[in-house]
Amino acid sequence: MPRILIVEDEANIADFLQRGLVYKGYEVDVAHDGESALAMARDRPPDLVVLDLMLPGLDGIEVCRRLRAASDVGIVVLTARDAVSDRIQGLEAGADDYVLKPFVFDELLARLRAVQRRRSPGSKDVIRIGDMEVDTAAREVRRRGGRISLTPKEYELLEVLARNARRVLSREAIFEKVWGYDHAGEADPVKVYVSYLRRKLGEPEVIHTVRGFGYVLRE
Ligand code: CA
Repeated sequence: MPRILIVEDEANIADFLQRGLVYKGYEVDVAHDGESALAMARDRPPDLVVLDLMLPGLDGIEVCRRLRAASDVGIVVLTARDAVSDRIQGLEAGADDYVLKPFVFDELLARLRAVQRRRSPGSKDVIRIGDMEVDTAAREVRRRGGRISLTPKEYELLEVLARNARRVLSREAIFEKVWGYDHAGEADPVKVYVSYLRRKLGEPEVIHTVRGFGYVLRE
C-alpha cells in the first residue's frame, strides 16, 4: 500500500487523518512540524504527503518547496478557506492539489487517490500535451505526427516538464532534476536549453515562462 506522510501540528486533526487513512489501508507517518517532516520524507520516502500550510517554525509553503525540489512525491495541501494567496502559493511551490479546511475526510481521500493515479510511475508511457507526444519508454518526441530529434539533455529537460505538465516548476527544481549538482557549463543552463527546445518544438508554444520563478509545460 502507498505510504502517506501527514504534516499537521494540530494533534486532533493529525490523529483523525491517521486513523482514517490507516483504516483505508495506507501506511501512515505523522510529522508535527516542517523540520521533522523533511527528515521523515528523507528517511522513509512517502508516495503522498498531506501538508498543512499553517505550521510552527518552517512554514508549509517552504516545506512544500523543499519536498518538491527533492522528489516527485504527490502533495496535497490543507489550507484555510479564506487564505486564497496560500492556496496559490502552495500550487506554485509544487503542490498537486489542495483541500480547504475544515474538510470532509472522503473529499481528501478522493483528492489523494486522484493525485496518486496521475503520478504513479509507469502508469502512462506516453504523455500528451496538446498536439505533442512524449514517449518516455522510447525517449521520443512527436508533434503532429512528426518526430522531433533532441539531444539527450534536451530530452531530459522536456521529460521533466512533461511529467509535471500544467504544473509550474521553479528554475532551481528543474536544474536539480536535469543537471543535479555537478554542472559546470553555461551560467543558466535551464534558460539556454529551454530556448533550444522552443526552437525545435515550434509553434504553438508549449513551454511557458513564469516570470521570476520558472517554467510550465502546457498546451
Ligand atoms: Ca496547523
